[in-house]
Amino acid sequence: MALWFVESASAAHKLQWKVTREVYSVESSFQHIQVLETEQFGMALVLDGIMQTTLGDEFIYHEMLALVPLLSHPDPKRVLIIGGGDGGLSREVLRLPEVQSVVMVEIDPEVVDVARRFFPHHTEAFNDERLRIVFADGANFLQSQATEADKFDVILVDSTDPEGDGPGRFLYTSEFHRDVKRALNDGGVYVQHTGAPFFNPEVLGMVTEDVHRKFPLCQTYWASVPSYPGGIFTFTAGSMGPDLSKPLRELPGECRWYTPEIHRLAFSLPPYLQKLIVRG
Ligand code: SAM
Repeated sequence: MALWFVESASAAHKLQWKVTREVYSVESSFQHIQVLETEQFGMALVLDGIMQTTLGDEFIYHEMLALVPLLSHPDPKRVLIIGGGDGGLSREVLRLPEVQSVVMVEIDPEVVDVARRFFPHHTEAFNDERLRIVFADGANFLQSQATEADKFDVILVDSTDPEGDGPGRFLYTSEFHRDVKRALNDGGVYVQHTGAPFFNPEVLGMVTEDVHRKFPLCQTYWASVPSYPGGIFTFTAGSMGPDLSKPLRELPGECRWYTPEIHRLAFSLPPYLQKLIVRG
């Protein structure tokens, strides 16, 4: 009898993956963590019943969340990642030699432990001496960042979704955006994912409304991520200066999704998406 992992994108839409085996399952202090070996996408990380990342298509999300802001910022020396416990984002960020330090603030040490054990392709960067992993709530961490020396050039929020009562909800509030802005250097940029618009359009509206109010520039871009519901997945940026739609540098080495053309095209939003954006 085949085993299937089923995720509810809404009360009326489900996604399912054929699973060859459940490799690991644990209830951490923050969430239910599962590692599934799926027939279509290989090893997959699931948190509280929501697909987070799969070996088969993680490159799309991680390349687009990392390289779009980093390659459109003139000199991204200090990077903050909030969430990102699976390691895929830090791997992409640390590909860039111009990045001098990365602080990854992950609330759940169990996720990092699971990633080290079951997702070695994601956690290559965990041994990079430029990376410092802090186990804390990202919202609280930002509130403790008070001095100039603590500021960042790029802040990337790679969290679980804001829906429900998971810890990701603290990273989508107006107070959080205020603290993000305060933690950025002059000319700094921040990006967070704003989910699958066909299923959670309110996330894009809520974030763009607040970010338009707080930042000189608010920009949304998108990618197609097969593992996420509805195929279209969005990212929203708040910028203190740089235009994220314009890559300033070429990327050393090969990517599997990102190119300068894909970078620019990602900001070309269909009218359907344009209408979901609230301009403050
Ligand atoms: N790629 C995924 C996505 O698109 O949704 C994100 C994957 S990553 C595993 C999400 C991480 O965010 C998890 O490890 C979770 O523990 C972490 N997280 C959630 N809320 C957090 C918070 N308030 N502070 C820090 N980390 C948080």
